[in-house]
Amino acid sequence: MTLGKKALCALCDKPQAETYKPFCSARCKLIDLGNWMNGGYKLPSEEAPSEAEILDLSDYLSHKR
Ligand SMILES: [Zn+2]
Repeated sequence: MTLGKKALCALCDKPQAETYKPFCSARCKLIDLGNWMNGGYKLPSEEAPSEAEILDLSDYLSHKR
């Protein structure tokens, strides 16, 4: 960390949100989870999943206990 302020998101380098550590948002958290579930990191850093994919993941997570 060179900034000495907040830790940065593991995915997109924005400041982490307390709620979503170590990510900045639910979006990044879901992206990371998606990577896990897909069995590997396939995303280039600049390419995010589509909204549909994120909604799909949210749905999956909300039904999982
Ligand atoms: Zn992020």
